[in-house]
Amino acid sequence: MNRLTCPFCGPRELREFEFHKTLPEPGSSPYARVYERVARLDESTEHWQHVLGCRAWLRVRRNPSTDAVLETTLLGGGAT
Ligand SMILES: [Zn+2]
Repeated sequence: MNRLTCPFCGPRELREFEFHKTLPEPGSSPYARVYERVARLDESTEHWQHVLGCRAWLRVRRNPSTDAVLETTLLGGGAT
């Protein structure tokens, strides 16, 4: 992954974005959400911000094994 597609700015170099966090798995227990750091190898959902662009917050689904971006969504908005 060397590019992300911002819903406002289009495809941009990864250096324009800042990683914030990996989101817990849907349905995981409250304990797991706080204390467990289990990463799936096939899919990860993360928060990123376009800090050197429009500063929009993005939800990025990607495959950590292949580094393929599955979906980029504006936080609070629709899919791109
Ligand atoms: Zn942007």
